[in-house]
Amino acid sequence: MPGILCEHCTAVCCRYIALPLDNPESAADYEDIRWFLLHAGVSVFVEDGDWYIAFETKCRHLQPDQRCAIYATRPKVCRAYSTEECDYHSGDYGWQQHFTSPEHLEAYARAQLSARRGKRQSPRRRAPAAGVARRAAGR
Ligand code: SF4
Ligand code: SF4
Repeated sequence: MPGILCEHCTAVCCRYIALPLDNPESAADYEDIRWFLLHAGVSVFVEDGDWYIAFETKCRHLQPDQRCAIYATRPKVCRAYSTEECDYHSGDYGWQQHFTSPEHLEAYARAQLSARRGKRQSPRRRAPAAGVARRAAGR
């Protein structure tokens, strides 16, 4: 692509903020995230196993021509951002999950919590059976 990549972009990276979340482990944790997703313009994504919340909100210094009005004094996070792996390159990035609705999260949470319960229960289920087997063998 000729020229600077940003000149072909609608400044996707200046239209949201994302913050890290604690990775959910319990039904209560998922319930908190469900609440986030009830709000318009909020989504939650998982990248490299870490959870983030994203708010669609345009930077107040983004000008109509998609340029930064405070380029010389833009924040550190903007300076550190590079076009190498930026938001321009793909719609879904490398996200493992991208939740945009409470229903999507609920289905995921049900599956995760049920799998976790299954893992916790299986050793306990096996133990009595082994005891019964030993008694049956007269040991
Ligand atoms: S860094 Fe990437 S996402 Fe941001 S304006 Fe430039 S091309 Fe667009
Ligand atoms: S300060 Fe400038 S570069 Fe940073 S998000 Fe706002 S418009 Fe974009």
